[in-house]
Amino acid sequence: MIGFVATICGVFGLLVGSFLNVVIWRVPRRESIVVPASHCPACGEGIAPYDNVPVASWLVLRGRCRHCGAGISARYPAVELLTALLFAAMGARFYDSWALPAYLVFTAGLVALSLIDLEHYVLPNRVLYPVGFVSIPLLLIGSVLDDDLSAFGRALPAGAVAFVVFYAIHVISPRGMGFGDVRLSFLLGCFLGWLSWWHVAFGLFAGFLYGAVIGVALMALGKRGRRQHIPFGPFLAAGALTIILIGQPLIDAYRV
Ligand SMILES: [Zn+2]
Repeated sequence: MIGFVATICGVFGLLVGSFLNVVIWRVPRRESIVVPASHCPACGEGIAPYDNVPVASWLVLRGRCRHCGAGISARYPAVELLTALLFAAMGARFYDSWALPAYLVFTAGLVALSLIDLEHYVLPNRVLYPVGFVSIPLLLIGSVLDDDLSAFGRALPAGAVAFVVFYAIHVISPRGMGFGDVRLSFLLGCFLGWLSWWHVAFGLFAGFLYGAVIGVALMALGKRGRRQHIPFGPFLAAGALTIILIGQPLIDAYRV
């Protein structure tokens, strides 16, 4: 059953990843995500459905537009693969829970937000709010169907606590932590808190740890100066996803 759910979610993730590529490209450029249909950014030629198959088309076309030969970034298949892997992992993690759809929307949102933050240093409300308004009600529905309302009763307070902690850090260091990170922390707090308060503490800490380790590494390699901005959203997202997926053994080991 685990394998079946994980496989279905993985295939679904490829398609969702393809859609996320559209969101990642168009939302920061204030373009509609519905019209026009997919087209080559270089020559403007429309992309036929058979050239728009996740990962496979990029490989067949060897990363080039069929019409003008312009290079197509490896980021497109990478986002599709990443989304597929994360969806499969979520499917394995929540194969027996009605909260799975909520966690899939949450995961898709984090992929889009992280990629936009890496490129544009912003976590757009036009992504964050729709993700919250869809995923949090789905989390409530999941709790009802799982007959575990206490999980949802923990999620919103956990989101609020995370928001307050991050807001305090934002006030102390507005350059280090933007208000987008504060908004994101509410969503992360909800989805970590649905599992337990331990997940909230471990998940947010993991985000800071990733940020600190990678930040110091980039500075040591001379890729980023001490004063240069490093987007924090991707680290927070990675920390939360790590603890949601594999945090339970860590927490159990810590509590013994
Ligand atoms: Zn082209």
